[in-house]
Order: sequence, then C-alpha cells, then structure tokens
Amino acid sequence: MSEVSMSQQTREIVETKRPLSQHWVGDGFPVRTLFSYDRGAADTSPFLLFDYAGPHLFEPARGQRGVGQHPHRGFETVTIVYDGEVAHKDSTGQGGVIGPGDVQWMTAAGGIIHEEFHSPAFAKTGGPFRMVQLWVNLPAKVKMSAPGYQGITEGDIPVVTLPDNAGTARIIAGQFGAAKGPARTATPINLWDVRLTAGADATFDLPEGHTAMIAVLAGHVTIGGQGFGEAEIARFTRTGGAVRVKADGDAVLLVMTGEPIAEPVVGYGPFVMNTQQEIRQAVDDFNSGKFGQIARA
Ligand code: MN
Repeated sequence: MSEVSMSQQTREIVETKRPLSQHWVGDGFPVRTLFSYDRGAADTSPFLLFDYAGPHLFEPARGQRGVGQHPHRGFETVTIVYDGEVAHKDSTGQGGVIGPGDVQWMTAAGGIIHEEFHSPAFAKTGGPFRMVQLWVNLPAKVKMSAPGYQGITEGDIPVVTLPDNAGTARIIAGQFGAAKGPARTATPINLWDVRLTAGADATFDLPEGHTAMIAVLAGHVTIGGQGFGEAEIARFTRTGGAVRVKADGDAVLLVMTGEPIAEPVVGYGPFVMNTQQEIRQAVDDFNSGKFGQIARA
C-alpha cells in the first residue's frame, strides 16, 4: 500500500449542502443552487454561489436558449462545461464558445455586461447539457479593477492520475503535487475537476486555512462515514489536513478550496460589493451606461 492511500481522514465535515432552489436562468439553464452568499457568505468565502445547471436533455431548437445581456460587478464568474456548449460575449470585446472540458473564468471586477447562450451548433442539434457556474469573490482592493476574461480550453488543463488507479484530477486552478492550474486567481484558490472510478479510495491534501468543499456532480461517495450524492456538497473545517473520499460508483466531483476573504459581503442581484453605498453606486453606474455595451457586428 502506498503512503498516500494510508493517510487518514483528518478534516471534519461541518456541513452538508443540498440544493436550495431549482429554477431556470433565462430559458437555457435549469439550475440547482447548492449555496448562495445571501444565506451567509463567511462560511464559503471566497466562494459566493454555486449553480449546477442540468443534467438536462435539450431538444433541437431554432433560436438560442440562454440569458441575454446583464451586468456583473465585484466578483468573478467561473463556468465549467461538462456537456453541451455555451457561447459568451461581453462588453470588453471578449467572447467565444466553450464546450465539454473547457472553462470560462470571467472577472467582472469594476463592471462588465455579458450574455450567456447555448452555442448556435448546440442549439441546432440539442443534446445533453450540464455545467457549473461558480461565483468567486474579489477582495475589496480589486473589486473596481478592470474586467477580464480567461478562456481556458481542455488542453490547457493538466490532468493528474490519482494513486492506485483511483481516477483523475484536472487542475483548473491552484496546485496539485507538481501540477499547476492555468487560471489566474485574485486570491489563493484550488479548483479541481475530479473523476473517481467505482471503488476508489482517494485522499486529497487540502491547504491549511482554506475554506474546503467537495461537490458531487454525479455518482455517490462516502466521506468520513457520511454519504453524498448528486448535487450535494461536503463542507469541511478549515484546518486538519487531508480528506479521504471513497467512491461507491463512478463519481464526478468538484474540489474547491480558497483562502477566506475576511471582508463584509453586500450583494444585490448581479452585484457583490462590501457596502450598501457601493451597491447603490453599482445600480447608478449601470443605469447611466457606465458598464459599457456589447459590440454588435
Ligand atoms: Mn452572468
């Protein structure tokens, strides 16, 4: 037995999160919200919101389903596509289509307007659709910085083979052994797309002091004697080292850790700032056109 597989679960589970609500975002994204900062932001910081869209089977369509232009300020939206294709366009002039394995890391910061639709090709054929959108907070000092966009394609993301044929981990952000994720983050964050094979017993060493959560997107796992199924999240203590996950069947997990941002969180719809005054300013700035616009060809 390897040293890794002999490590013990040392980090306690402090909370199990289950879907808070099920709703459609526009007509393209049937979403289960697994956590949201409006129910208490400190515990999940720097992560603000977790929407799991799908799995859902879309019929072929003439138009494009999705959500038309809308603003964001004060944080980042991270979109991970598992099935289907998402087309994005924003007021900084960035855009593109992301498909299975691709990740869009959009920094709204001081203000962005974007639209999120199914790609024209996917709309036409229809098919299975599944994605995650995670909102990641920004520290106050960069909330009003220039917006940005990182289009991260499948080939950019290193794949780590887990010991004992337990499965694989794609390192989107942060570090796993020698592998380093391509995403540039404002604060220290790990985001790993983990696939476990049935019967796997995997141990993940998570950084001390980080908020630490594991979302089950498909399958069923046992952690610290507790079972977790689809659309459930285990949230752990911020100290204590490793987490040991046993896969009861093939499983797809999203491992998230991040250094908490110890600042007040005041949000209103698509704006997440530190004070009410900053929220009023965001609404005023949006209403007076200061977020720019999406260029049309
Ligand atoms: Mn959006």
